[in-house]
Amino acid sequence: MSIEAQEGEDQWPYKRKDIDLSDNVKVIGWEHHAGGGIIYQIQVPVPNALRWVNAYALYTEGKGYTIIDPGMRTVEAEQAWAEVYHALDISGQRIEQIILTHYHPDHLGLAGWMQEQHRCPVYLSKVGYDHASRMWGKNRTMSTAMGELFTLHGAPVETLMQIYGHMESFVAQVTPLPAISWLEEGDQLFFAEGQWQAIETHGHAPGHMALWNAELGTLIAGDHVLPRITPNVSFLPDSDPEPLHSFMEGLDRLHQLPVTFAFPGHRYPFAHFHARIEYLLQHHEERLLSFMEELHLPTTAYALCASTFGVPPQLSVHEFRFAMGETLAHLIELRRRGLIQEREWDGVRQWQIL
Ligand SMILES: [Zn+2]
Repeated sequence: MSIEAQEGEDQWPYKRKDIDLSDNVKVIGWEHHAGGGIIYQIQVPVPNALRWVNAYALYTEGKGYTIIDPGMRTVEAEQAWAEVYHALDISGQRIEQIILTHYHPDHLGLAGWMQEQHRCPVYLSKVGYDHASRMWGKNRTMSTAMGELFTLHGAPVETLMQIYGHMESFVAQVTPLPAISWLEEGDQLFFAEGQWQAIETHGHAPGHMALWNAELGTLIAGDHVLPRITPNVSFLPDSDPEPLHSFMEGLDRLHQLPVTFAFPGHRYPFAHFHARIEYLLQHHEERLLSFMEELHLPTTAYALCASTFGVPPQLSVHEFRFAMGETLAHLIELRRRGLIQEREWDGVRQWQIL
């Protein structure tokens, strides 16, 4: 099951050791040349195009495992963890704590399940927990609010029910929601023989936390910077009013860290952290420019989404939600820069260059 070596891997600060398990889950142990504990990368299956989310397990002598982002709750993911518990002797040790980089279901979903088994604290930012509650908690409001937002921006009324049904389908995949201990910007955490600082950035998810180990030049990056995938940046109802601006500010902030190796939420750990950030910044600037060219005449976000990314039935409801959220995030950034304005026409918003 070993994966191919990647370009430049022989110069990386970590060496990799594949751990043989079944086809349902792959585990790779990453060991820094300077020592420190092993970082186990656990590819927990997720039922969408991303295929897996990276959970990380780090062991602290005398205390047990710290688990970062356990994954989404599905039968396959539970089976994967059963194998991992056995292979890493997690059942024989114990889980000291679970840390969530952000509230998205593919990262948070299994935290409550795992907390019930191990009776350990689960750390997440307050604003992250607030979003999880509004999406999947008992008094959730996000499913309805998102459908209404999209229809205000030109999506056909049928979309309202589709979005609602789609959002509700996540509830089982995040149940039970964990009891949360707050994780705050600047918090210092100690695990795997090292000190990790929580660094909060917004944009991909409000209250997103990366964990920075200055001694090792290592960042557990969550989804704010991913190799190969452009992290989704969506405008959500009653959330960050300028998510793309926040996302780009977060990239600038992370760019200042001397990161030599990053452990992302999806795909493989990577060394080209700064180049990747520069690419992502440029990608969004180019998208903003291309949107400007489409806004000479009044245009809805839905029409712009259709011409840029597509809409159902070409896209699944899941893909459409991301595409529409991303379109709105870019329009709002253009408005913030004073380049476009919006107007309401017959209950529908339209955008145009100034
Ligand atoms: Zn995410």
